[in-house]
Amino acid sequence: MRLIYLDHNASSPPPPAVLQAVARALVDDWANPSSGHAPGQAARRLLVQSRAQVADLVGCRPAELVFTSGATEANRLALDGALARGATQGRRRLLVSAIEHPGLLAHARLLSDQGLAVERLPVRPDGRLDIDTALARLDSDVALVSVMAAHNETGVWQLDALAALAPRARALGVPLHSDATQALARGLPRFDALGVDLLSVSAHKIGGPKGVGALVVRKGLDWPAAWPGQQERGRRAGTENMPGIAGFGAAAVCAARRLAQGELDRLEGLRDRLEQGLVASLGAQPIGAAVPRLPQTTLLRVPGLHAEAALARLQAAGVAASSGAACASGHAQASHALLAMGLDAAAALEALRFSLGAGTTRDDIDAALAAAAVALGPPRGDPSIPPSRSPR
Ligand code: PMP
Repeated sequence: MRLIYLDHNASSPPPPAVLQAVARALVDDWANPSSGHAPGQAARRLLVQSRAQVADLVGCRPAELVFTSGATEANRLALDGALARGATQGRRRLLVSAIEHPGLLAHARLLSDQGLAVERLPVRPDGRLDIDTALARLDSDVALVSVMAAHNETGVWQLDALAALAPRARALGVPLHSDATQALARGLPRFDALGVDLLSVSAHKIGGPKGVGALVVRKGLDWPAAWPGQQERGRRAGTENMPGIAGFGAAAVCAARRLAQGELDRLEGLRDRLEQGLVASLGAQPIGAAVPRLPQTTLLRVPGLHAEAALARLQAAGVAASSGAACASGHAQASHALLAMGLDAAAALEALRFSLGAGTTRDDIDAALAAAAVALGPPRGDPSIPPSRSPR
């Protein structure tokens, strides 16, 4: 059975050019890029080239990129820097949107034990940040504001919020951070046009390897190295993850090429086809669809159908998708982001996410629609198949 992979927001498969770049970094340019000898210098050239490739896609200067072990670490570095910088400036409040990634929120909780007062900024039922509240909370005692660029579950953009917060934050000397893990190569404006000071990105959401990402630090921002060392201009210690970084560079080149060929319009058309098909065949209700969102993501619920049961049935039918729920020890917990949008827990546990990417074709979408109509449709009275609809 052919697998139809519609979970690119979890991870997007690497194209051949990425595999080749990773292999080259291991086979040819395997030396330490800090070494002065010829093999070391070859590795250094690969590092410089990869940095330029990622910077091109992000729209920042190469020197603004700090390679990390992924977006999780980039988010943590942003928060740790805020703690250190805030301590010297008497800034003790940390503003984070209520829908940030769990890793960022968990680290914020840790920092609250170290003296930062963490405040969660509310979102409206449509998934967008409540900008008035955010602006009202922003003051000169804030160490950092963090607002995700586009949400991993709903896909909802926060570009309006970032645009509203940026000038105010700049005037108050408050660094503005955005986790753009899901937004890169999916419509994110160039870094130099976004108005933010710090940006987190990850390679594996754009077809690069896992375990590599970057924190972009705006040139001129007085930013303490939370993890000082000799690499990354003193801002992040540790020998560079060259296979990962080379793969990130290659993935950035591939993504840029696809973008230039109209990839986002193509994906949006396919996403709309999928969404409309699921609405028509199952009565699915899209979440966050009334406001601007990522072109390749749809989050929807089929009322009465628990997401975990639906995913198991889709998986059996050859479709890999995801839910909005975090699964801890086998028990799905309603997504904090959907709860923050005002969904009740039962509705949040019905949320199904389909996210498209480079390899997704119209045939995939049509096959997924056919499979979903059978796998998730009303029970047909065959007693050997357990009902997929769970009582509310
Ligand atoms: N932020 C967001 C919005 C994400 O979707 C993810 C990945 N699920 C992360 C951060 C973490 O990225 P990484 O896997 O590179 O640590």
